[in-house]
Amino acid sequence: MSHWARRLASAILLLVLISPVFSSFNAGAEIPGYPDYQQISEKLQYLNGTYPKICALHSLGTTYEGRTIWALKISDNAWKEENEPEVLIMGGHHAKELISVEVPLMFAEFLAENYSSNMTVRNIVDSNEIWIVPVVNPDGYEYAWEGHTGWRKNRRPIDANGDGIIDGIGVDLNRNYGHLWGKQGASHDPNSDIYCGPHPFSENETKAIRALALSHNFTFSVSFHSYGKIIYHPWGNSLDPEPMDNELMEAIGNEMAEYNNYTVIEGKDTYVTTGDSDDWLYANTTCLPFTIELGKEFIPPPDEIQGIFEKNRDALVYLLSISGDPYLAVSEKRTNLRITHFSISDGVANISVENQGNYSVSALLTLSSGSGPPESERFALKAHEKMNFALRVNGSGEFEAKISALHHAKEWNTKDNTAFASFETDEGKLRTEGTDALMYVFGTVILLFFLFAYVYKSLKKD
Ligand SMILES: [Zn+2]
Repeated sequence: MSHWARRLASAILLLVLISPVFSSFNAGAEIPGYPDYQQISEKLQYLNGTYPKICALHSLGTTYEGRTIWALKISDNAWKEENEPEVLIMGGHHAKELISVEVPLMFAEFLAENYSSNMTVRNIVDSNEIWIVPVVNPDGYEYAWEGHTGWRKNRRPIDANGDGIIDGIGVDLNRNYGHLWGKQGASHDPNSDIYCGPHPFSENETKAIRALALSHNFTFSVSFHSYGKIIYHPWGNSLDPEPMDNELMEAIGNEMAEYNNYTVIEGKDTYVTTGDSDDWLYANTTCLPFTIELGKEFIPPPDEIQGIFEKNRDALVYLLSISGDPYLAVSEKRTNLRITHFSISDGVANISVENQGNYSVSALLTLSSGSGPPESERFALKAHEKMNFALRVNGSGEFEAKISALHHAKEWNTKDNTAFASFETDEGKLRTEGTDALMYVFGTVILLFFLFAYVYKSLKKD
């Protein structure tokens, strides 16, 4: 045997010997083209280590099977809490929806890798605090990835009545949130695919998202699912009255749809649900939440992943570009809420607010004084409508009435349209500031004065 033949033979022998290692390594890879939980964790740790200025990896908690629920925060000065709009992006509430994990993971990678070279990416990273939770349900994801491609819930064994006997496995995490929990479109049977759990927030995964959401002020959230090519916004249930921000959310959804070509629907118009993340976020935080149903199957073939990602990446980039002022989706000129009347008599402040814009808005009216606690009232106002408020006056001194948005980042309407009025009790005189309607009145009076003066003068000449 020649030298080369011997080498070839030993190489073949080596390959034969180690091939079981390869095959056993690949045996778990039931779903080609999709990473397992370990690879997802490694990717997040890689981004955290490679881009330490803009990536900060956090653990939100641990699952029943001991896996970490990761959140990657992406922002300039990622380890600092800055006063920037915050946006939450989630994937993988449901185990079998593998593409819903891939898209937020790829988005994190896209932001980190293009930060130094792409101006758009740099702008949205610098001006936002972006929290990405690619796998809300790691135990379920891993189970599905191993080949149980019909699995939807998490993997916690449930002993519903406490008799020591396991009644079923897993809770549908997107029915386990606390708003109107267990009422519509959810099951109380532990064997059901839409089992809502023994009580609201019974699961570590939903507890983790709740804690994150309550410790931040998210302007938007996007929860990815598959499938359907749909952008949902609240409500998912039909028990609540129409959401105050219905038109706004629909408008933002329509703007995102310009990029991914999906259909925009209020959740309950497809099928009713309770206990999903969107309804809870909308009811309990300042967040405008969206659910995006990706593609046309739970696990699209690997060669379709990139295309699905790119459309939705662009929708996310758009969303992050308006997080400082969501009303940009409805109007370049913002909301045009005005305080048109403000007076105080018999311990009551009478305030009129007018929506001079073309869209419904929801906001908060606050009456504050130097000496007493502020009074406030939440309201929604349709286009061109007016509303009168009577708020109790606490204390004495100078009173201020101010309108601020509710579902919004911190500085809504501060530039040109802030409705603001103050009232001095000691002088008993109304003073308004920044109320355009009154400025027009003053302006008109002054203009008329000059006009009359001019006319009078020219008449006198003759
Ligand atoms: Zn889903």
